[in-house]
Amino acid sequence: MNKQKLIGPFHQLLTLDKLPLKGPLKDESLEIIQEAGILIRDDKILEVGNFEELRSKITLDQTELHLLEGDCMAVPGWIDCHTHICFGGTRARDFAMRNAGKSYLEIAEAGGGIWDTVTQTRKLDLIQLAANTTKNANQHLMEGVTTIEVKSGYGLNHEEELKMLRAIKEANSKTLADLISTCLAAHMKPRDFEGTNAEYLKLIGETLLPQIKIEQLSNRVDAFIEKSAFSSEEIEAYFEKAKELGFDITVHADQFTTGGSEVAVKFKAKSADHLEASGENEISLLAQSDTIAVALPGASLGLGCDFTPARKLLDQGGSLAIASDWNPGSAPMGDLITQASILATFQKLSTAEVLAGLTVRAAATLNLSDRGILKQGMLADFSIFPTNNYQEILYHQGKLKPVQVWKRGVRVTASAK
Ligand SMILES: [Zn+2]
Repeated sequence: MNKQKLIGPFHQLLTLDKLPLKGPLKDESLEIIQEAGILIRDDKILEVGNFEELRSKITLDQTELHLLEGDCMAVPGWIDCHTHICFGGTRARDFAMRNAGKSYLEIAEAGGGIWDTVTQTRKLDLIQLAANTTKNANQHLMEGVTTIEVKSGYGLNHEEELKMLRAIKEANSKTLADLISTCLAAHMKPRDFEGTNAEYLKLIGETLLPQIKIEQLSNRVDAFIEKSAFSSEEIEAYFEKAKELGFDITVHADQFTTGGSEVAVKFKAKSADHLEASGENEISLLAQSDTIAVALPGASLGLGCDFTPARKLLDQGGSLAIASDWNPGSAPMGDLITQASILATFQKLSTAEVLAGLTVRAAATLNLSDRGILKQGMLADFSIFPTNNYQEILYHQGKLKPVQVWKRGVRVTASAK
């Protein structure tokens, strides 16, 4: 049997335990253990508690002691519940054109937009694509992101979507981070498909989704409901099929125009993501539902658009997670903590609301109940920050990096990747 490990002492350990899934949160509701330690065996937490009490219970022949010195505190590993980190190429030209005042249409006519990434992604083979994904995942992991949702959606035909999902699976075996894949074949109708939106969705619903089930490549289906992509009516038939096959649903909703959040609630989606355009009706509908709102401040920063109305969603009783939307087009930064802390300043979010949105509430969007909280029985996924005060993490707006990251009980180092 592997030795258990005791790590500590931490001046503060934030458990993120005992918080409601929905509604606003005050910082006073955060459970903080002072002078704490974490006792782990294999990939799970055996106990969190006072370091000296834990140390008095263990024997050194059964336990590896990982002693920490100086300022330090522990938080659960971050969970990024919305990314597109499996891709080829770059869209730097789009970024420059947008900032020079060019329209979406002008950029698309110049060969930019999602279709550009589709073309560049299709050129890569599975191994190259998996290598790109692994590299991005490892960068996230070193910054404390231990679980990463990754979408397909740059393949946009049967074989290319399967290639992407297989590449994500391959990358998952190469990185210590956990990658949770989502099928986003309904990202846009591919330009080389000769038929209507409805015909494209019917085809992928009848052929691609069953194959994904057979190969167990994903149990999540996403769709982009937007004027430039698919209408609510077109997506409803597709979601019926996905539900029938047992997929969880998530939606790119209300980014530029409304409609998506209503479909998300109707289909009991795990999450409705974006919501920058949501108005009072959409906010109220989401707040009353079990669908978690996901704010993507990286996309607002990348496009120069409004932020998700996170404050209103929470105040009306909704649940909020925060994700990076890391993608080559609208959100190339991929720095989750920088983005979350900027969202907090503009939307006036408490530290507790942001940290819950990066941990326990983000876990719920992915239907994961084994992470996001530091307590007995949970996965030993945590980061150690060089400070004695948890408020410093967001205060530094992403500049304060973890000094150690642990994933499933293993300390992540550059060589362990
Ligand atoms: Zn997205």
